[in-house]
Amino acid sequence: MRICRFDGDTGPQYGLIEDGTVFGMTGSPLQGDFERGPAAGALEAVTLLSPVVPGKVICVGRNYAAHIEEMGREALPEPLVFYKPPSSVIGPGAPIELLPEMGRVEHEAELAAVIGRRGRFISEADALEHVFGYTCANDVTDRDFQNGDKQWWRAKGYDTFCPVGPWIETDLDADNVAITCEVNGIPRQEARTGLMLFPVRRLIAFISRAITLEPGDLILTGTPAGVSPLADGDTVTVTIEGIGSLSSPVVFRDL
Ligand code: MG
Repeated sequence: MRICRFDGDTGPQYGLIEDGTVFGMTGSPLQGDFERGPAAGALEAVTLLSPVVPGKVICVGRNYAAHIEEMGREALPEPLVFYKPPSSVIGPGAPIELLPEMGRVEHEAELAAVIGRRGRFISEADALEHVFGYTCANDVTDRDFQNGDKQWWRAKGYDTFCPVGPWIETDLDADNVAITCEVNGIPRQEARTGLMLFPVRRLIAFISRAITLEPGDLILTGTPAGVSPLADGDTVTVTIEGIGSLSSPVVFRDL
């Protein structure tokens, strides 16, 4: 299934995408109780929102060797985990905002796992049973704040720094799919998820040792090599094989 959220007649609602048509859904697919409703329109005609409203956005750093090398860092024996605030999440097509105080702001294309089943102390063997599906994410990062601040609260957490979408693919085997990022159509990142140092099942087991994972939580699984700066007027597109493309315009706000 391809599950989206869209701006419907009565506000945001979940949708099921079939053959280019979005059907409204009653109930919540993440709660497992839903039915396909009437057609809401063609996919191109509806306004897609972030496909999930996460309670937590859990992110993993240093998960691809070539990216660790380009950043001049060392690989770690355990996953490097941090959070982005849920308020940083935006949907496909929504703008990433640059503000005057920001420094070098870069894209980070990432596979995002959407949790569908609550759990703690989840084993690697059971981990993928807790995944509802996968979507694309962009872990937008201000490098100057990342290097200068002790915490990454704003380096990773400004509003609009977490584009997610365009929809959730529930039938994907995400172990080794292509992940790319283009800026204005120019390829910047090209890799495969099979290059992750800590695969999704390992991340879920590690993270759930400490915290309960709940339906709707997002796990951003780290970015491959090729990060590059974003500027006013750019369009940045994350594409994952078997899911689709998440595009975001970049706009400067002179506040
Ligand atoms: Mg990242």
